[in-house]
Amino acid sequence: MNQKDSAPNSLNAFALKKLKVLEAKNQRRVLHSTTRCSEMRLSVDGGPTLVSFTDNDYLGLSTHPEVIRASVEATEKYGAGAGASRLVTGSHPLYDALEAKLAEVKGTEDAVVFGSGYLANVGIISTLMGVGDLIIADELVHNSIHTGMQLSKAKVTSFRHNDTQHVADILEKERNQYRNVMIVVDGVYSMDGDIAPLQKLGQLAKEHNAWLMTDDAHALGTVGGGRGSAHACDAAGLVPLQMGTLSKSLGAYGGYLAASKPVIDLIKTRARSLIYTTGLPPGTVAAALKALEIMTSTPGLTERPTALARRFASILALPEPVTPLVPLIIGEEAATMEAATKLTDAGFKVAGIRPPTVPAGTSRLRFCFSASHRDEDVEELAKACLALGLGSKA
Ligand SMILES: *Cc1c(COP(=O)(O)O)cnc(C)c1O
Repeated sequence: MNQKDSAPNSLNAFALKKLKVLEAKNQRRVLHSTTRCSEMRLSVDGGPTLVSFTDNDYLGLSTHPEVIRASVEATEKYGAGAGASRLVTGSHPLYDALEAKLAEVKGTEDAVVFGSGYLANVGIISTLMGVGDLIIADELVHNSIHTGMQLSKAKVTSFRHNDTQHVADILEKERNQYRNVMIVVDGVYSMDGDIAPLQKLGQLAKEHNAWLMTDDAHALGTVGGGRGSAHACDAAGLVPLQMGTLSKSLGAYGGYLAASKPVIDLIKTRARSLIYTTGLPPGTVAAALKALEIMTSTPGLTERPTALARRFASILALPEPVTPLVPLIIGEEAATMEAATKLTDAGFKVAGIRPPTVPAGTSRLRFCFSASHRDEDVEELAKACLALGLGSKA
């Protein structure tokens, strides 16, 4: 018996049974080998070139020549891997420059970089919150926030999406029974493309001595002049915990928290998803730093994705978007997936989103616009949608 078939029968049987159940619910997932090129061109499983409206690379920086060069140069200078966790010897010099730049962009005293956005949420929430504390989370927050909340062992309660009155009610009723309270939201919600009401949430947090945390994964580089949701809402002083990722607008990989110096010092000392994991490859840190420099020094760059989204939405008579994310609700799951397939046939890669990712009956196409799309890509996509009868003019 070779290594390949050495799994005990009960283990394989378990996996196969689980897969069968998921398959029956249409929830089995498979990976497709995808080659990405510049200007949002890509090829899936060796197929024809498509223009992608699914990537989170909002500024096109993952394929920017200067970002690639910075990554190659750092790899040649510092090596392919970090060699150890950051607290041992893996915190190479580029980390300091990246963290300083992040704090500057976010307008905070300090910042710390994690291995990914997922690891950041897991580490931040479980370090700051514990037994006897309360976390109040929007019902649509990202999966990684749920993982962090579970790990924290704090009491967790959800509020209806963007419903600040619901938050106020929870605070009125429950604040006094807990030691520390956190309110956590996504700055921009990737399934609907809307922005959290941070002015109001910030005021509530202040009144009730709660800590407001934003996950700016889809907000850095896209709103608030690129500085994120707190700046977009004119609420920078009201959000003491601004988390985000280096993997979307910055086109690299890694996560971060921007906050006060005492908070960052505590995170560096206690967050297990920072301490017990290897530092990022130097090339990745260099890419993120260069991308941040390009983002802050290129006039008009962070406005372009939303401008393209608006152009598209106006042709299809959809509500005016405030971010580069445009949902087009179809409703039925099968019709949604069929529309996505037809758009692929027309040369566009578009995500069909269905339950359990979104509520039943709200299956949708989701379009992500990037600064690196050509103007004519957007016009042609809109034409293809109209030809399929999509949009409210149809
Ligand atoms: C993508 C995403 C993350 C995870 O970030 P990674 O760097 O990809 O791990 C966290 N939160 C939100 C809202 C996201 O969209």
